[in-house]
Amino acid sequence: MPFEEAAPTRGVDLPIVVLGPLGGVEYWASDRRPLLLDCRLAVALHEIGPILRGHGVVRARFSGAYVLRTTRSGRPSRHARGLAIDVHDLATVDATFSVKQHFARNTPCAPDAPVLNRVACDLSSTQLFRELLTPDYDRDHHDHFHLAIADDPAPSGS
Ligand SMILES: [Zn+2]
Repeated sequence: MPFEEAAPTRGVDLPIVVLGPLGGVEYWASDRRPLLLDCRLAVALHEIGPILRGHGVVRARFSGAYVLRTTRSGRPSRHARGLAIDVHDLATVDATFSVKQHFARNTPCAPDAPVLNRVACDLSSTQLFRELLTPDYDRDHHDHFHLAIADDPAPSGS
């Protein structure tokens, strides 16, 4: 994947800036901020590329990955370590699906569920993410998917 090492970033073990598509999906932010995150999260996003592409997704709009903040309960957010990303829209070549408008709350995983629900189901089944929060979680997540990896992923394979 195209990236460069980022300057030392408070709280982030392995900070990088992603410079191109991850797993065939371009991540972009409305405010044009760079995609700065821990490289382990970048690897996870790379790995889910085929799932997103399988749903026709070529672009993903995020609001923040690395963000210095705490959770509402006061514990450090995984965003503050570059281990989380908030994704608001997924776009195919001819349509944009926003979590706010197109995710159907409290809908079971099924082949006829809306595309964003099927994406969330598929992402969940990978078990790559420690936190995969959707509008079903709480009001704070009514308009985005929060994807976060574990602080110390277990070694893969065994
Ligand atoms: Zn988040």
